[in-house]
Amino acid sequence: MSKSLFDLTGKTAIVTGSTKGIGLAIAQKLASHGANIVITSRTAVDCENIAKEIEKSGVKTLAIAADISKVADIETLFNKTIEKFGKVDIVVNNSGVGVTKPAVLINEQEMDSMLDLNIKGVFFMCTAAAKQMKTQENRGCIINISSNAAYFGVPMMSVYATTKAAVVHLTKSLALEWAADNIRVNSVAPGTVPTEMTKSLMDDTAMCERIKQSIPLKKFASTEDIANAALYLASDEAAMVTGATIVVDGGRHAV
Ligand code: NAD
Repeated sequence: MSKSLFDLTGKTAIVTGSTKGIGLAIAQKLASHGANIVITSRTAVDCENIAKEIEKSGVKTLAIAADISKVADIETLFNKTIEKFGKVDIVVNNSGVGVTKPAVLINEQEMDSMLDLNIKGVFFMCTAAAKQMKTQENRGCIINISSNAAYFGVPMMSVYATTKAAVVHLTKSLALEWAADNIRVNSVAPGTVPTEMTKSLMDDTAMCERIKQSIPLKKFASTEDIANAALYLASDEAAMVTGATIVVDGGRHAV
């Protein structure tokens, strides 16, 4: 019998920021295709609740509280994952933070919070993943969540957009560095998705309408739209894909 499309049975996936929003949708999607999932965000109780929920779909889970802007937490996350599952096949670097305000009002703490999570955290998650995957026969893949903001200037979100452009570039460089090890590194760049991160925007009906009109498909992406792209990149169907970014934004980046 032929294997079903996007089958992840027996694979282990870490998804950062997987207690809500896009990360939760990715965790649920990978689990629905058979992957065992490590649920991680900063709050232990949230991780445990989501892990219990996802276990109902028949896969194994592990809940680990970790602040991805701290390298020590990343090391603990990988150590505990290997202790339970013995390997990690898929790492999705989804945790991210954005501060929306005029550039002249961004302070040092806000700048550091974005650089430390969106760039430093993603980088050290990638290196921790690669170190582990290089020891595994079947290697693995990494998926970094960027943003379509990587592709055009974004007033009021200059630092955030810059960090997301960095994620696209980091993805290409690491993909080349680890291609010989058969570790694939790709990225998904969402457009605007209704989540907690975009709540204040979603509450502004007039602004939402203006943004929708600027999107060729005239609608926002859903968390599931983003999860579908992550599922493809995580699967063997994407075995020839590395260094790529799939932009899921209804065509906005192409304007
Ligand atoms: P969200 O705010 O709903 O979720 C963010 C997740 O990251 C949460 O689980 C949160 O707990 C976690 N997180 C925050 N700081 C953390 C830290 N220091 N350590 C560990 N985890 C931390 O946001 P979302 O909209 O689901 O965004 C997910 C990703 O998608 C982010 O990287 C974001 O930049 C990106 N993105 C979102 C949109 C959008 O419109 N929502 C668009 C483009 C890109």
